[in-house]
Amino acid sequence: MLKRILIANRGEIAVRIIRACVEMGIETVAVYSEADRESMHVYMADRAVCIGPAESKLSYLNMPAIITAAKLMEVDGLHPGFGFLSENPKFASLCKMAGIAFIGPSPEAIGLMGDKAAARETMKKAGVPIVPGSEGKIYEVEEGRRIAQKIGYPVMIKASSGGGGRGMRVVLEDDDFSSSFNICKQESKAAFSDDALYIEKYIQNPRHIEFQIFGDSHGHVIHLGERDCTLQRRNQKVLEEAPSIILDHDLRNRMGEAAIKAAKACGYVNAGTIEFLLDRDKNFYFMEMNTRIQVEHPVTEFVTGIDIVKEQIRIAAGLELELKQEDVRISGHAIECRINAENPDYNFRPSPGKVTTFHVPGGHGIRIDSSIYEEYTITPYYDSMIAKVIAYGRNREEAICKMRRALSEFAIGGVDTNIDFLIKLLNQRDVEENNYDTSYIEKWLGK
Ligand code: ADP
Ligand code: ADP
Ligand code: MG
Repeated sequence: MLKRILIANRGEIAVRIIRACVEMGIETVAVYSEADRESMHVYMADRAVCIGPAESKLSYLNMPAIITAAKLMEVDGLHPGFGFLSENPKFASLCKMAGIAFIGPSPEAIGLMGDKAAARETMKKAGVPIVPGSEGKIYEVEEGRRIAQKIGYPVMIKASSGGGGRGMRVVLEDDDFSSSFNICKQESKAAFSDDALYIEKYIQNPRHIEFQIFGDSHGHVIHLGERDCTLQRRNQKVLEEAPSIILDHDLRNRMGEAAIKAAKACGYVNAGTIEFLLDRDKNFYFMEMNTRIQVEHPVTEFVTGIDIVKEQIRIAAGLELELKQEDVRISGHAIECRINAENPDYNFRPSPGKVTTFHVPGGHGIRIDSSIYEEYTITPYYDSMIAKVIAYGRNREEAICKMRRALSEFAIGGVDTNIDFLIKLLNQRDVEENNYDTSYIEKWLGK
């Protein structure tokens, strides 16, 4: 087993990983930027190393600084969390070269799946259904336009290196193609230092269904069922749940098998997520694979009873998966809400500042993953997600009731949050009745 792990991240996910390590008797090393001296992960880890100034590029994305800290602290494992360097193949291979177990897949698998245009090709060859669209990368507007005409409008132009809901645009008609393509290209270049694009048919009124998978270094691959992440704003998840009550037994099995096929196609080891779109006729299409722990992993933990982070660590240490597919049992229903420091009345603009009150909900079936405490100052440098509330009930109805109750107990003062917005969302009849698609929130807010 690993003895000492460096957590190359911050916020609630760093805290989440430290907790797993403590329970496993593994020592922890935190890294932090100058803006994060007072952060919870710094206090919770056994040791902490400052890796640079506030700006991510100079700290949490600073590969030489993090590898140096890892070597100085003589760690034998590194957990990248999500965002930051978690899907950077170069970083994974630097860890490998330094003799440190990267708690994630191989650099090759990260590289293959991080290139979303190439990932489509891999999946197609493996017999996994993909969203109809272009083959390979597109750089020229006229080439893109010809392909869009062939696919038929509406289409979606997407950045091949994209993530976090950014770098994608819907195009409804040919007249808008050129301008959308050029904007996408510029945004992609600026955000991901890569202007390669690809085009997909725009799937109308879809649901976002993703499968949690696990591969070990002994050739076993299993899935832990699905999560429904259909409630989104600007292609970013707002509320996630497990299981998805629109899947029946047969469809769940077929999608699960496709997810396993997808993972095997890239020789996948460790935890990963295969994202699918499900259309109105219940056809499913591979969209992308996230080669890391996911924000919404706790809903799967609730319904399966499996600690996904501990399993990731065991796999990175070379151990075999303890579970076989037939041992995975889904019971009950879990929902997660992402709590952000933002103001929904002003187009969800971030709301940094000092937290004057912080009272977290509790009680039966409630889990809070957060790194905030009273008197903590939220800085403007990083993501605005400050907590996750996860509710577990025997069924969806009960989970919703628990979530509403928990959200109404949550008292955060000093900064604006989306808590009231989430309560309103959960009070919508269509949400209660599971009657929505990925554009639901935008349509609702537009009314
Ligand atoms: P999940 O699929 O786990 O829900 P998100 O899309 O919410 O993931 O991303 C998790 C975090 O990682 C967010 O903070 C997001 O901004 C960041 N992130 C994801 N992909 C990228 C990327 N390619 N580049 C930069 N940040 C990213
Ligand atoms: P990211 O890497 O930013 O997570 P994804 O490719 O996973 O990007 O897409 C994010 C979201 O955008 C999806 O969950 C879905 O709501 C929407 N989306 C992406 N591609 C399509 C498509 N072809 N048709 C309809 N919606 C799409
Ligand atoms: Mg995605």
